[in-house]
Amino acid sequence: MLIDLLFTPMCIGCKSLGSHLCLGCRSAIQIASFDLRSPTLEVVSAGQYEGWLRDSVVRYKSGARSDVYGLSQIVDLMLPRASRIVPAPTSPEKVRDRGFDTIGQLSRQVVRRRRDVTVVPVLRLTRTVRDQVGLTADERRANLTGAIRSIRPVQGDFVVLDDVVTTGSTVQECARALKKAGADRVFVISLCASRNRGYL
Ligand SMILES: [Zn+2]
Repeated sequence: MLIDLLFTPMCIGCKSLGSHLCLGCRSAIQIASFDLRSPTLEVVSAGQYEGWLRDSVVRYKSGARSDVYGLSQIVDLMLPRASRIVPAPTSPEKVRDRGFDTIGQLSRQVVRRRRDVTVVPVLRLTRTVRDQVGLTADERRANLTGAIRSIRPVQGDFVVLDDVVTTGSTVQECARALKKAGADRVFVISLCASRNRGYL
């Protein structure tokens, strides 16, 4: 029946039926962490921006629900117990264009899976920033400096959630804003990170 096919979950990696992330694809994920510098900031990611992970991130950005389900399971693998997630902010223009807030949606799905995790959506972009695509690392930093702030004071430790970390300038700015608002320790969880980590 077509109706059964529509409601049967499909793996975001290998397209096999039965779950949004099959055991084989799940066990092939290699979680790794690295440090951004000046200031030091730890980033944990599930892989590089390539292959099926990239394809799934592209689909999730265009609104595919099954990819949100599968990718939220990948975030789940990386999140320590009782984490407090702060979604990296999306510009209002992008939210309007897409019709939804990508990272906000991913965060909400993670919380549905993990009752010990909470979402603390305190970061906002304070001004219009240029699209980061095509900018050099220095240009990205300049583009974002002072552009993110917390809407209220915070206390304790936080995990910034982002989908793709490239030069790291966005998540650095998120961490800076959280610390300015009172956060203690901050680290980053990202679905994927740039292929070229040598720039760090
Ligand atoms: Zn699979």
